[in-house]
Amino acid sequence: MTHTPNEITIPNGILDAPLSVQRWWELNRAYMTDPAFQHMRTRNINYVPGRGELDSGGLMFIGEAPGANENTQQIPFVGKAGEIWEQLLDSIDLKRQDVYITNVVKYQPMRPTNRDPSPYEVSNSLPYLTEEVNLVNPKVIVPMGRFATRAFYPDKDASHTRGKVLERRGRYVAPIYHPAAAGYNEVLLPKLEKQFRTIRRLLG
Ligand code: URA
Repeated sequence: MTHTPNEITIPNGILDAPLSVQRWWELNRAYMTDPAFQHMRTRNINYVPGRGELDSGGLMFIGEAPGANENTQQIPFVGKAGEIWEQLLDSIDLKRQDVYITNVVKYQPMRPTNRDPSPYEVSNSLPYLTEEVNLVNPKVIVPMGRFATRAFYPDKDASHTRGKVLERRGRYVAPIYHPAAAGYNEVLLPKLEKQFRTIRRLLG
């Protein structure tokens, strides 16, 4: 069964799916109908759900919010940042299909133009992210960039946690630079590569 809802309708046969899959669909449907995000649901803006195995005991990456390519394809990290991310995954012998990938905010923040997610959008997304983490049940969580990192460490500046491995409720949390940053600043690429090697070791 596909894990990607392109619409609000929950698929036929869902009652035969594992409980985690049923709850994952419910979670996405709840986000898609949450009035807190009504202002984001403008014309041509699509819901971009997380992707990957649930109850995986593996690796979960968390970005900020979809961009234009992600909005069109309804898949996280398929644009320029996604290219860099896949290249980094490849450097530790992993493929997109081996991990779960999602964003804190599930709609591309527009209006007036492409922008950062607002504190309101982030804080309203956090309860959904918490539940998503529980459903994915990863061994290692990798927040990418300051928005995702702040979701785990609201009181710390991202520069204090980046590259460090922390433990939260029995999981490793390894915040890293956002891969898009390496697109603007090439010196970050070797740093990200090093962070990915650390992530690989954590997976065991
Ligand atoms: N940047 C993000 O944070 N998420 C995406 O899905 C794409 C780019």
